[in-house]
Amino acid sequence: MKDADCIFCKLANGEIPTATLYEDEEFRVILDANPASRGHALILPKEHYRNLYDLDDKTASKVLVLAKKMVNKMRPVLGCSGYNLVQNNEEAAGQTVFHFHMHMIPRYENDQVGL
Ligand code: 5GP
Ligand code: ZN
Repeated sequence: MKDADCIFCKLANGEIPTATLYEDEEFRVILDANPASRGHALILPKEHYRNLYDLDDKTASKVLVLAKKMVNKMRPVLGCSGYNLVQNNEEAAGQTVFHFHMHMIPRYENDQVGL
């Protein structure tokens, strides 16, 4: 299912062009428009899921495997010192875009990123 009103559906499916770090049949990895640090990226499924509550087990597993692949690919490129994976569910937890996404936030020494 896609949601015609969802900006991340449009980004994930290429209807709105965006800087893409990785793409396959099910996912697109893009740079965050308002990065918490240099290289802050988002994993977006091409299907619409509101958040983790909605995700089927197969897709949920693939997200973590893809996150592992991406951080290992990006670490040497960015020269970061660490990585946070962050994933917000519902407004009370800070979710602002209601299409499942996993944040991959590179961390640098003394970067002052507040999570
Ligand atoms: P949330 O708070 O829902 O976990 O995270 C939403 C994230 O999506 C934020 O970090 C925000 O900067 C990012 N974002 C919102 N709209 C856009 C957009 O149109 N393009 C991109 N690349 N990122 C976006
Ligand atoms: Zn969507």
